[in-house]
Amino acid sequence: MEKLANFINGSFCQPKSKQYLDVFEPATGEVYSKVPNSSTDDITIAFQAAKDAFPDWSGLPIKARSQYLNNIADLLESRQSDFAHYESKDTGKPVSLAETVDIPRAIANFRFFAEYGPTFKFDSELNSAQSENKVLHVPLGVVGCISPWNLPLYLFTWKIAPAMIAGNTVLAKPSEITPYTAYKLGEICQDANLPDGVLNIIHGEGASVGDALINHNGVKAISFTGGTATGKTIAQRTASSFKKLSLEMGGKNPAIIFSDCDYNKMLETIVRSSFSNQGQICLSSSRILIQSKIFDQFKSDFVQKASDLIVGDPEDRKSNLGAISFKKHFEKILRYIELAQKEGGNILCGGKAVNLNGRCKKGWFIEPTIIEGLNNNCKTNQEEIFGPVVSLIPFEDERDAIQMANESDYGLSATIWTEDKERAARVSNQVEAGVIWVNCWLVRDLRTPFGGMKQSGVGREGGSEALRFFTEPKNICTSNA
Ligand code: NAD
Repeated sequence: MEKLANFINGSFCQPKSKQYLDVFEPATGEVYSKVPNSSTDDITIAFQAAKDAFPDWSGLPIKARSQYLNNIADLLESRQSDFAHYESKDTGKPVSLAETVDIPRAIANFRFFAEYGPTFKFDSELNSAQSENKVLHVPLGVVGCISPWNLPLYLFTWKIAPAMIAGNTVLAKPSEITPYTAYKLGEICQDANLPDGVLNIIHGEGASVGDALINHNGVKAISFTGGTATGKTIAQRTASSFKKLSLEMGGKNPAIIFSDCDYNKMLETIVRSSFSNQGQICLSSSRILIQSKIFDQFKSDFVQKASDLIVGDPEDRKSNLGAISFKKHFEKILRYIELAQKEGGNILCGGKAVNLNGRCKKGWFIEPTIIEGLNNNCKTNQEEIFGPVVSLIPFEDERDAIQMANESDYGLSATIWTEDKERAARVSNQVEAGVIWVNCWLVRDLRTPFGGMKQSGVGREGGSEALRFFTEPKNICTSNA
């Protein structure tokens, strides 16, 4: 059984405690590797390595840091197919999805920040007769990056790339549930000759090593993506240290479908936005609000399309949906489907676990599930399920749709479907979400701010937002008198 290792100061090493956690392949339900369950001791060692690496790394011209990021991207690209297989095995997602979304995006994250970093205005001048002011954006020092299991390498690299290009050194903790591609990224860093200590990857549980990371006095900032409950814990635990925090958390995203939309494009996209990655994307549509004029037609077409989706072995290229990433989550999704029925919901399709044959017979698979008949305020429509489960809710007019979209503690993303540009603009302005897609979904320009409102987020990632987060503005004032 393969034993993964921490990557500290440029080398792979065991956790000091020698404690390991099981890593499961969701498609088979079997343990296939062991990941370190690190502790404060490992964070202490990694912190020292990152601290020692900081002066040289932050002192490099940004073009040199950019070259390292491009080298990492090139090496990742040369091993793209291997990484897609690792990601699929670790998460249960179809390998075709990892090949077309996860790994290309991880490569793009490095390339984007390699190119964008040097264009960011780290220095500016504000001069007057009285004084000359130099405004610098200086790197913070050692920063912490904590990422979730649903898009493992995609979100891990979305944090570490901007942290590194801005001149920081990094302690990064991937999810203990899907650690494999982050582990393998250590090899890529070695091959790219990344200076020792610039990126340190420490594995283990959130409550132990994650907590040690956020509580380390020397760590200047925490960039976190994960559940809202964890985000709250991190905010509370770090409040007295005044660490900079970027928190990307959960969602309950509405898709708002008006009767004047481009129907076929909408239908095809809603199938993807509901069920891609088994609905385990923070940006997935989970509340589908449909104008009543087209409710029946949409319901029948959507149910047909969802029923045609193939739930199967992630290695099989015919599979549209793979396995749910871990057993507890699989059980949680099934409990929500039961709850939906108790709340009066009617299951239009799906609703059950899928039993496959052969190597996947003990895997954690769930049918794409569509529910109707629930009002927007019930638990099923208010709590994040994070699985292949969506709820259909009719609305009459724009006001009605906006009100329901906003009746949620969350505010991560929304999609709006209409051919009326003025209506699209009106609704976009009023829906409380950090990311609004009009007539599309998951189209990303990495320069734009990314993040959520309300319980979905604090701060923004992407482009200049990320570089501002990973730097501190400093004003140097010289008097002209
Ligand atoms: P999680 O909060 O359980 O874990 C996320 C990470 O935090 C993991 O690495 C975990 O080990 C770590 N962690 C847990 N407890 C910690 C603690 N006390 N201190 C420090 N670190 C700790 O989330 P998850 O289950 O891995 O991910 C699913 C959630 O992530 C969903 O709610 C989803 O909506 C959200 N998500 C949000 C975005 C976004 O961009 N807003 C993107 C992807 C996922």
